[in-house]
Amino acid sequence: MNVQEIEINEAFRAEVREWMNSHLTGRFASLKHASGLGAEGYDAQLAKEWEQELAKGGWTGIGWSAEHGGRAATLAQQVIFHEEYVSCGGPGRIGHIGETLLAPTLMHYGTPEQKARFLPGILAGKDYWAQGYSEPGAGSDLAGIRTRARIDPATGEWVIDGQKVWTSWAHESGWIFVLARCDETVVQAAPGNGARHGGMVLLLVPLHQPGVEVRPIRQITGTSEFNEVFFDGARTEGSLHLGPVGDGWKVAMYLLGCERGASTLGQQAHFRYELNLILELARKNGAARDPLLRQRLAKAALGLQTLRSHALRSSGEGTSQRVASVSKYAWSNWHRDLGELAMEVLGEQGELALSDPELRPLQQLWLVSRADTIYAGTNEIQMNLMAERALGMPR
Ligand SMILES: Cc1cc2nc3c(=O)[nH]c(=O)nc-3n(C[C@H](O)[C@H](O)[C@H](O)COP(=O)(O)OP(=O)(O)OC[C@H]3O[C@@H](n4cnc5c(N)ncnc54)[C@H](O)[C@@H]3O)c2cc1C
Repeated sequence: MNVQEIEINEAFRAEVREWMNSHLTGRFASLKHASGLGAEGYDAQLAKEWEQELAKGGWTGIGWSAEHGGRAATLAQQVIFHEEYVSCGGPGRIGHIGETLLAPTLMHYGTPEQKARFLPGILAGKDYWAQGYSEPGAGSDLAGIRTRARIDPATGEWVIDGQKVWTSWAHESGWIFVLARCDETVVQAAPGNGARHGGMVLLLVPLHQPGVEVRPIRQITGTSEFNEVFFDGARTEGSLHLGPVGDGWKVAMYLLGCERGASTLGQQAHFRYELNLILELARKNGAARDPLLRQRLAKAALGLQTLRSHALRSSGEGTSQRVASVSKYAWSNWHRDLGELAMEVLGEQGELALSDPELRPLQQLWLVSRADTIYAGTNEIQMNLMAERALGMPR
C-alpha cells in the first residue's frame, strides 16, 4: 500500500471525522468506545441501529464495488475510515461476519440470485450472519466436522443435522453459514469425495426455524458473545449452497482468507485507544514511576507501531497464508500481553471485582484478550503454518 496516500488524503479524513462527530451523538452516544466483542452492557439492538445509521451515510461496505452498492473506496481510504472511526469513538462493528467474511465470498462464489438476495441486507445493516465452522472435536482440525447435510427428495431442500460451538453472535443473527459434510447420496459423483477435505458444502441457513436451537455460552466476562448451535433436521432451500457442492472446503478456506484486510488497521486504532487508557492510569496511580513498568509501556507502544507498519506493508497482498499467520500471531500475542500489562498497572485493584467505569474496561481487556490467541487459528496452529509454509519444515 502507498503509505503516502494515507497521509495526503486529508479531505477524506475530514469527511469521516465530520460525519462521525455529527452522528455518534444523542442515543448513539452510549455506544462510544464500546468494544463489542464480549463487552459488558453492550446494547446489541442499539448497535444494529448504529449499523443502519452507518449504512445510510454510505459507510458500510465502503470497499465494495459500486455494482454491489459500495463506494469503491481505495485501500488507503478504507484505512483512513477505520482509523478515524475508532478515534471518534466508533463502537465495535456487529456486522463484521456478514460484511467482511461472507460478502466477499458471496461476491466470489455466489450465484447472481444469492448476491441479489443477501448483499443488500448486509450492506443496509439489517441482516446479521453467524459463522458455523467449529464443532466439539473440530476446531483447529476443522476437517473433522461431523455436521451432516442431505437433500430431502420430496422438497429438494437441504436438511442439516449436527452441532456447532463457539458461534459468535448467533443469538443476535438471523442467518448462519454452515460448513457440513454431505450425505453420500448428495456427493456420490463429486470430485474429492471420500477424501478428508472432500464432500463438504457451505450452506446458507436461516437461524429462526424449529430445527435450530441456539444456546448462549456464559463467558468469564459474565456476558455471552458466543453460543452452541444445534441442528436437528434444520432446513434451507436447495439453491442455498455457496459454491460447488462437494467443494465446500475450498469455499470455507476462501472465506477465512477474507479475515485480514483494511479493518485490521481499525482494530489497531482500538488497541491504541486501550493503550492510552493504560498510560493515563499509569500516570494517575504512580505505576509510571516503576522503571520496569515504564519499559513495558514503552515496549507496548513500539510493538503497536510495528504492527501498524506490518499491516500497512502487507495490506493488499492478497490472501497469502504466510502473511496471514504472521499478522495473526503478532497482533493476538501483542494484545494478550497488553491485557496483562493492564492488570499490572491496575495493581492490587485488578484483583477485585471492579465497578469503577474507568478501571473496569482495563480488567475486561485482560479477560477478553485471553481469547485472542485462540479464535481465527490458535498460536500453535499459526506456528505450525509458519514452520511449514514460510520455513519449509516438514509436516
Ligand atoms: C472468542 C471466540 C470466538 C469464536 N467464534 C467462532 C465463530 O463465530 N465460529 C466458529 O466456527 N468458531 C468460532 N470460534 C472457535 C475457534 O475457531 C476455535 O476455538 C479454534 O479454532 C480452536 O479450536 P478448539 O477450541 O476446538 O481447540 P482445539 O483445536 O481442541 O485446540 C486445543 C489446543 O490444542 C492445540 N492444538 C490443536 N491442534 C494442534 C496441532 N496440530 N499442533 C499443535 N497444537 C495443536 C491448540 O493450539 C490449542 O492450544 C471462536 C473462538 C473464540 C475463542
